[in-house]
Amino acid sequence: MKCKICTKETTTEYCELHQKAHENLVQKYDNWKKALETSWEEYLNEILKNQYSGVWVREVAKYLISQIK
Ligand SMILES: [Zn+2]
Repeated sequence: MKCKICTKETTTEYCELHQKAHENLVQKYDNWKKALETSWEEYLNEILKNQYSGVWVREVAKYLISQIK
């Protein structure tokens, strides 16, 4: 099985690095939701717009957005 984002071999949905990035993303969204009324999609777009987002996180966000539409 290959990571859904890159082509690395993995036994789960994502490779180790993208898995970590995905976890961070979900965790951050929980905090975000408490402070702001933000949809998952809006949140992901914010992540992409934020120049300080890490490369891995961006790739995961991009992938997740593509899955929404
Ligand atoms: Zn990957």
